[in-house]
Amino acid sequence: MEEHDLGIIGAGPTGLFATFCAGLREINSITLEGLETTGGQILKFYPVKNVLDVEGIPEIKGIDLANALLKQAQLFKNKIVLNSKVTDIKKNQDGRFILEVNGQDMYRVRAILMCSGIGSLVPTKLNIDGETKYDERGVYYTVSKTEPFANKTVAVIGGGDSGFDWANQIVSVSKKIYIVEYMPVLKALERSVSDLMNTGKGEIVLNTAIKEVIGDGDKVTGIKIMDRKDDSVRTLPIDALIVAIGHKAETNSFKSTKFDVLMNKLKVDDGYQTSVSGVYASGDVSISGNKPKVGLLAVGGAEAYEAINNIKKFLNPEASTFGEHSTNIKL
Ligand SMILES: Cc1cc2nc3c(=O)[nH]c(=O)nc-3n(C[C@H](O)[C@H](O)[C@H](O)COP(=O)(O)OP(=O)(O)OC[C@H]3O[C@@H](n4cnc5c(N)ncnc54)[C@H](O)[C@@H]3O)c2cc1C
Repeated sequence: MEEHDLGIIGAGPTGLFATFCAGLREINSITLEGLETTGGQILKFYPVKNVLDVEGIPEIKGIDLANALLKQAQLFKNKIVLNSKVTDIKKNQDGRFILEVNGQDMYRVRAILMCSGIGSLVPTKLNIDGETKYDERGVYYTVSKTEPFANKTVAVIGGGDSGFDWANQIVSVSKKIYIVEYMPVLKALERSVSDLMNTGKGEIVLNTAIKEVIGDGDKVTGIKIMDRKDDSVRTLPIDALIVAIGHKAETNSFKSTKFDVLMNKLKVDDGYQTSVSGVYASGDVSISGNKPKVGLLAVGGAEAYEAINNIKKFLNPEASTFGEHSTNIKL
């Protein structure tokens, strides 16, 4: 089993900054992210909005901030693994932890930093007939490879940035791509829209609701769609659909490890340790004291920095709680 000193759970902004801090303190860490991308809430909820309250950066678009956080996290080459949802945390008799990922025991670590934010971010489903039946047999919620869309007519449900990003990722291999949007206007960046339309393979269907996924029992053959102007229903023949209508958060619960919780957050002490020795927490997932906490990027970053310094001492009691200023480091 792969071993590391520290397992960081979640690669949102807090987990990414914690990864950088772990590198700074020469901690051998692994960061596990359930989604196919890093960036947490920034990428899933406000990628094209401007963030104004990050210290020293007067204005930055969400996606640019998420990219910068990833670049910083990779500075010391600490490992980050995507599509890896931590499904259980088991404590060994020797005090170490086994991290179960996607249902399988995968990593042994000496300490854990929970940076799991508001929970596992999962794609919102359409909740219509046929959707579950054809899951992964024509119904997809992410694009992890292009093969399932090769030479296929694909409907991307949702005309926001994720929808267009995925459409543009597969358009070179696909036959045709419909973008089906519920609202009468698109929400995506103009550039993403024109990139798709310039290929000659895109078609936009606005003001339209999806009623049913249709198939032949084995694979998807079409979707029933309703024009919201006149309620008329028709079948759009397609081979696959990608649902890109946003994400929601699901609270984590681990069978083998229970934490003290307050206001749905993990309670931590002054050293950012949870009620379980060796497990620390920072960012939106944690709370200290009894006051409600405001979830902010700067707050999570500061907490991650301090938590990592305390973890360093936990891993090596001889180590100082503060390493050195980053200005002393030669890259
Ligand atoms: C619309 C909106 C606008 C905002 N605007 C601002 C702003 O202007 N300024 C500001 O400072 N803050 C803003 N925030 C708040 C800010 O985004 C959060 O405080 C920040 O994202 C918290 O970061 P985090 O890493 O702690 O949690 P998250 O961003 O929630 O990231 C947690 C990550 O952990 C992953 N994860 C969870 N469970 C597991 C698991 N079991 N296994 C593996 N991975 C897991 C999730 O998939 C996610 O990627 C805004 C939030 C929203 C929703």
